[in-house]
Amino acid sequence: YKENHEPSALLVRLRQLRVGDFKSIPAAIRPNISNYDAIVTMFTQNVGSLIVVSEEHELLGMISRKDLLKAALGKTDLQQVPVGVIMTRMPNIIMTMSDEPVLEAAKKLMQHQIDTLPVVETFIDEHGDERYEVVGRFTKTNVTKILVQIGTLGQ
Ligand code: ADP
Repeated sequence: YKENHEPSALLVRLRQLRVGDFKSIPAAIRPNISNYDAIVTMFTQNVGSLIVVSEEHELLGMISRKDLLKAALGKTDLQQVPVGVIMTRMPNIIMTMSDEPVLEAAKKLMQHQIDTLPVVETFIDEHGDERYEVVGRFTKTNVTKILVQIGTLGQ
């Protein structure tokens, strides 16, 4: 629907919200851990996707429930194969940054049909290439929390 008058104060406020104010701490693992251990980590951290990072917290990839289910259906030895082999890897990872409006981040989640965006900061490596350091995660759960917060404002 189209707005035919000034956006309400609530809408103005909604559009000002930034990822950095709502992001969660990253649930991250290293690429050399086994798929088996990734499944255990999903249970212990109570998350559906894990961010795969290097020792220096550089973003390498993402691994989700479905990736691990797919591996479990095949002949993959879950104890032997590392997550780095089956993860979705850079440069195919959809990211967000702390200063991005939450509406933009929520659109990315919808458009790409994913649950989690790593929140990153950029840095330049020794070769002058841009790289990404993981500083958080922004998920559909964060979006749900924002909705509930707004809906119960003043209550
Ligand atoms: P699930 O597999 O539990 O439904 P998702 O919908 O988040 O979880 O993941 C779907 C696919 O997208 C998986 O293959 C996963 O590796 C990949 N994926 C997850 N998050 C991202 C992301 N931020 N950017 C790119 N691909 C992603």
